[in-house]
Amino acid sequence: MYYIAEVDKGICSAKNCHLCTTYCPETNCINYSEKDKSAYISVDRCKACEICVYICRDVAKNDAIKMKWVEELDEGFMIKKSGIILR
Ligand code: SF4
Ligand code: SF4
Repeated sequence: MYYIAEVDKGICSAKNCHLCTTYCPETNCINYSEKDKSAYISVDRCKACEICVYICRDVAKNDAIKMKWVEELDEGFMIKKSGIILR
C-alpha cells in the first residue's frame, strides 16, 4: 500500500512553471515531459513527503498535485516482484 503524489496534467500544462521539479528531495522523482508540457511523478521513487503538494498549491498557487493511493492513480500501475511499474 503506497501513498503517491500525482500531477493533474491539464492544470500543469497550462502553467508550465517547473517549480516542483526543483524542490522534490528524491532524485529523478519529479521530471518534466516536453511532450505533455507537464511535470510527472516517477511512482517508484516518490516517498510521499508532500513537499511538492505544498510547493504547487501554496507557493506556485497552481494546486495541480494531489496525494493518491497507488491503486487510484489515473494512469494505472502494475506491481511485480521487482517493484512497481507504470503500464
Ligand atoms: S509546481 Fe505544479 S504547476 Fe508547476 S510544474 Fe509542478 S505540478 Fe506543474
Ligand atoms: S511527495 Fe515528496 S517524494 Fe513524492 S513527488 Fe512529491 S516531493 Fe517528491
